[in-house]
Amino acid sequence: MSVRVRFAPSPTGFLHVGSLRTTLYNYLFARHHGGTFILRVEDTDQERFVPGSYEDILASLQWAGMTPDESPETPGDCGPYIQSQRTELYRRYATDLIERGMAYYAFDTAEELTAMRDRQKAAGVAPRYDRSSMRNQYTLGEEETKRLLALGEPASVRMKVPITGEVKFNDVIRGTIVVPCKDVDDQILMKSDNFPTYHLANVVDDHEMRITHVIRGEEWLPSTPKHVLLYEAFGWEAPKFAHLPLLLNSDKTKLSKRQGDVAVRDYIAKGYFQEAFINFMALLGWNPSGNREIYSMDELIKEFNLDHVNKAGAVFDLKKLDWMNSQYMKQYVEHKLDWLTDEFMVLLAAQGIETTHDYAAKVIRLLHERITLLPDLVRFSEYMFRKPVVDEEWKATIWNDGARQLLGDLHEIIASVDATSFDSHTVHEAIGAYTKEKNVKFKDVGNTLRLAVTGKSVGAGMMDTIALLGKEETTARISGFLASN
Ligand code: GLU
Repeated sequence: MSVRVRFAPSPTGFLHVGSLRTTLYNYLFARHHGGTFILRVEDTDQERFVPGSYEDILASLQWAGMTPDESPETPGDCGPYIQSQRTELYRRYATDLIERGMAYYAFDTAEELTAMRDRQKAAGVAPRYDRSSMRNQYTLGEEETKRLLALGEPASVRMKVPITGEVKFNDVIRGTIVVPCKDVDDQILMKSDNFPTYHLANVVDDHEMRITHVIRGEEWLPSTPKHVLLYEAFGWEAPKFAHLPLLLNSDKTKLSKRQGDVAVRDYIAKGYFQEAFINFMALLGWNPSGNREIYSMDELIKEFNLDHVNKAGAVFDLKKLDWMNSQYMKQYVEHKLDWLTDEFMVLLAAQGIETTHDYAAKVIRLLHERITLLPDLVRFSEYMFRKPVVDEEWKATIWNDGARQLLGDLHEIIASVDATSFDSHTVHEAIGAYTKEKNVKFKDVGNTLRLAVTGKSVGAGMMDTIALLGKEETTARISGFLASN
């Protein structure tokens, strides 16, 4: 049987990094097995719907390069499956369960349910729908139920969970899980607004879409006994379940907004490379054999399996993400410099910086090792394109009469280097002869030049910087600096 998996987000906010990891594992699993990857939007909880989140989910997945394989069979529709467009189907299945005595109508109001919970709290018992005391098909009887339905009384449909016995299922990652039925609530399947709950729609769709493996976050584990009971009630074979470990903050608490960004869009906006981000996400909970850390998408597809997914939570370590991004930066400089330069030039242009492809590529080569993110490289390298902005605080610590004298001499030396052989080596030689003769420290030369040419205390090697800026620009900057300081 060929593998069929799905990613089933609810449009209740921007795509969370944890959801991206879930999608990625589904995607890798499908591709590894030559199977099908489906996107299904679970939007039946109208109250939790957040406008814009659907678009954000699609945009984030597209950025991540994970496009679904299958579309609904509605003519002209090429989007994902959308549950709110399939409500008729869930209603039909709910009715079917009622007819077979596996589900029942309940008429309780919100106030009645709150009162029930308060009673249970006071009595010290776990909150659970009390089938025997509430207003439902069992306590009211068939006649009254029919009458209320005919009157249009708001009714929900609840699952009839066995009072005794246990639910048992296997999780690919966690092994056998057994839950006593008495701990499973008579879950609402259809709400009084005629929309299904997550549980019903999810199970019906996984069955209808012939999903073979449900790979989802650990937070859904408590729902699984309910789902297993539903599969049994319908007489369907359940898919295999794999619940992925939680993502954690560095202090091992559950990953939260309070400790950093959790939306994929934030990382896109910061300028992380797509491949680096995917590589990083893949290793959050999955341990391929050996110590290797850098994997392309194709390599991930080849290596991925659920057997090496951990049970323990995985720390979303931003330092590791930055490290990963730097690794990709290096790789791109070596193997995809043209592409990287194009990306860089787009960012430069957004800052109003026009330059040539050749010069931009050289700036990347010169400075990339100091910077993690490409947008930061734009900020950092601004002095390679524009007159530098001087770091006044730093200047106060090194600028004095001696430095002025030195800079004047350096101007002369640099101006005397032949323009046709102006490179870092020649400039270095010329300055070296001067420092030897005058017994000047090369460190002072470097700092003074750096101040006049780049304005800030950190950067690439000074000779390389000067060589790339060129003789004319370098001498103009030095004389400009001398004139105004
Ligand atoms: N709609 C659920 C979510 O938002 C899907 C959980 C599942 O994969 O079953 O994550």
